[in-house]
Amino acid sequence: MTNQAVAYYRVSSRRQSHNWSIMAQQEAVHEEAGRLFLTIEAEFHDIKSGSNLNRPGMNELSNAIRSGRYGHVLVWRLNRLTRSLKDFLLLLNLCEENSVVLHSVMEPVDVNIMGRFQQQLYVMFGEWQLGILKVNQNNAYRQKFREGQLLSSSVPLGYYYTKGLAKIDSETSKIVKFIYENYLEGDVGYRKLSRAVMNKFDYQLTANGVAKVLQNQAYVGKLVNRYGVSTKVFPRLVTDTQFNNAQALRKSRRVKQKFITNPLFKKKLRCPYCQGILTASHVITASKSRIDYWYCSRDYCKGIRVDEQRVLNQLTAVISGLVTSDFKKSLMVKLNDDWPLQTRQDVVPADEMFRKFETGGITVDELETALTKSSMPNLEIERRRHCRKLAQQIVYKLTDPRDEDNIASVVKNLNFDRIEITMNKDIGGVFLAELPAINLLSLRGGK
Ligand SMILES: [Zn+2]
Repeated sequence: MTNQAVAYYRVSSRRQSHNWSIMAQQEAVHEEAGRLFLTIEAEFHDIKSGSNLNRPGMNELSNAIRSGRYGHVLVWRLNRLTRSLKDFLLLLNLCEENSVVLHSVMEPVDVNIMGRFQQQLYVMFGEWQLGILKVNQNNAYRQKFREGQLLSSSVPLGYYYTKGLAKIDSETSKIVKFIYENYLEGDVGYRKLSRAVMNKFDYQLTANGVAKVLQNQAYVGKLVNRYGVSTKVFPRLVTDTQFNNAQALRKSRRVKQKFITNPLFKKKLRCPYCQGILTASHVITASKSRIDYWYCSRDYCKGIRVDEQRVLNQLTAVISGLVTSDFKKSLMVKLNDDWPLQTRQDVVPADEMFRKFETGGITVDELETALTKSSMPNLEIERRRHCRKLAQQIVYKLTDPRDEDNIASVVKNLNFDRIEITMNKDIGGVFLAELPAINLLSLRGGK
């Protein structure tokens, strides 16, 4: 067996600093690898909860196991891989299929059936323990809340935390009051207020931060969360009238500058790094024009940001290219290549096989295997026929207008499954909901 190994680390959030950090896990795993004479050739990590296996680092780990290059997987604790027994069994199965041995630094077991069973017990126990922990934590929070204590030491701007209580901070509370007073004087946006706070107090608060101050009920002495409403936690900083007026003003302004997400791209654009769905956002430039863009908001991802207009232009060019080219032919060629209605064996053999059987060329068993091999399940044929019908409809949708000025409305009426963005921020793949397996980009060129 190869001594090449992969390592996997996980923390559930960036905040988990009190817990084992990724670096500490790495240190322990490397030490263990040395002890077992293993060479760590690849390392993957996630900053995500272990409640399911849908994590970028986990995906890379699964691919590495499948690659057959490695003989060992190393983790600090099995619960770094997953918190669920069901998922753990899936992983264990994957390891076994690829002759990979799983090692946990903290839960060492023998490499045999008993050892694997022991590992399952560890995970099972962890799953149960986590459930108990959650219940306990919940009860503790509820109790604290009833007593008017803070649940965590992070308090809003204007307060400081001491021994479970929030006290008014003499310096930063002035900023909160300043924000409310100036906002209510009118015609000052969040961005302007953020600059004003910087100038007056030398304190950095983003526009978003200003917006948060203006809606935080802590400043009228209320703490609202899932345990209820408590008036014992925060001392008041602004009056009810100030707070209510600010809410009314915020609402009236929000209607005016409401940001409407382009429905064409909603949940359709994919990040080239993590394949996740991109989030819409926008900026207002100094000249008051709006720039819409889409970005990857996952904190474990390298991230990308694309200009919506650029994507739209490229998409329009792609669709326009399809309309003007003879893409109907290339689509049908592709469908016949990828999903033929008949298997190749089926075209030739049926008759020939019977003839061979009649003349004693093959046995009845051989005939049976040949026939079952060659026939495609009816359901699959049905599905492929259906795809062709849908393809026809798409062709019709795309070629009907013929008028290139109308291309924008054609694009608007298409139902996309996903649009893949490349690392260069270009469109790399366009897939329709009706034909999610066919990249429209691959159909160009058939002029
Ligand atoms: Zn991403």
